[in-house]
Amino acid sequence: MLELSENEVEDYLNADYRDILSLMVEANTSKDTTVTYSKNVFLPITNICRNECGYCIYRRNPESFDATILMRTGEVLNTLFKADEYACHEALFTFGEGADEFPEVRHALDVEGFTSIIDYLYFLCSETLDKTNLLPHSNPGILKRKDLKLLKEVNASMGLMLENSSNRLMETIAHSKSPGKEPKLRIKTIEEAGKLKIPFTTGLLIGIGETVAERAESLLQIRKLQDQYGHIQEIIIQNFKPKPGIPLENQIEPSLVEMIKMVAVTKLLFPDVSIQVPPNLNIQNMQMFLLAGADDWGGVSPLSRDYVNPEAPWPELNNLKSLTEELGFQFQERLPVYPKFISEEFLSERILDRINSLGKI
Ligand code: SF4
Repeated sequence: MLELSENEVEDYLNADYRDILSLMVEANTSKDTTVTYSKNVFLPITNICRNECGYCIYRRNPESFDATILMRTGEVLNTLFKADEYACHEALFTFGEGADEFPEVRHALDVEGFTSIIDYLYFLCSETLDKTNLLPHSNPGILKRKDLKLLKEVNASMGLMLENSSNRLMETIAHSKSPGKEPKLRIKTIEEAGKLKIPFTTGLLIGIGETVAERAESLLQIRKLQDQYGHIQEIIIQNFKPKPGIPLENQIEPSLVEMIKMVAVTKLLFPDVSIQVPPNLNIQNMQMFLLAGADDWGGVSPLSRDYVNPEAPWPELNNLKSLTEELGFQFQERLPVYPKFISEEFLSERILDRINSLGKI
């Protein structure tokens, strides 16, 4: 594995055009030729959130006409049953953070018979395992150790974007109204997940006002966590997209070259982790990222839209397959947990039983 200092990572990220090609070749030699994806269903359990990130169009205030205060159990199960018919294997439970700090959400939880969003999530994941062939992957925001421990029982993997490790961004339009985006809190959650051996997805959001040095620092922060706990299964390198009406509406999105450098450097630093670039945010350029070292397309849903980026529909699976194979890569479905984590060390008995029943062990 390549050991790089922060300055060296920064130099790579500042490389000029000619150096990018050799960077791409180097990143590609450290990966095999399989490119994976997970056939999933997206379950936006609530879009109420205590944070107000400058780039978000998912969050709603409880009084908004189009707020999802809480997806009810019946609605969740109906969606899961439909996903089962489509042979999806991942139930992606997505949230705003700390939604149960709002009385409207607490009331809806009370109607369902729960006192906290975490207890409700545990119940929904448990129902998923009992009644469908899907495996839960939850993204409920920053969590305490006891909540992570509880959710590990019923999740194949979990996720939390680091976004960036810069404290400076807490004073900018990106994160100034988002206490949950404080880097030390997010690092703590990822660290606790590591101690609990939870297969974990994290990633960086590129282009929200961070400097190249802060990108380098963030990558090395994740490397440190991975060296210590070995539980990071994939890193998402997500490009910021300006959208009308958001506080960062006028922010310029990262260039293709900047993104290629990020992907290539991430693969160089993490030959032991999958690198994911969301294909729906990069329809025109997605093949470039495979050449730069990306080896996973993430969750692709045949039945639900990307609620976090609703303007960007997922590509058809057949289309994604052709684009992948055209470059000589193999296109392969994976579960929400990567093969090297399928063991008693990382997964609960319930999850292992489900994987076993799918014939994937
Ligand atoms: S934490 Fe997530 S849902 Fe909440 S405002 Fe930020 S990006 Fe949006």
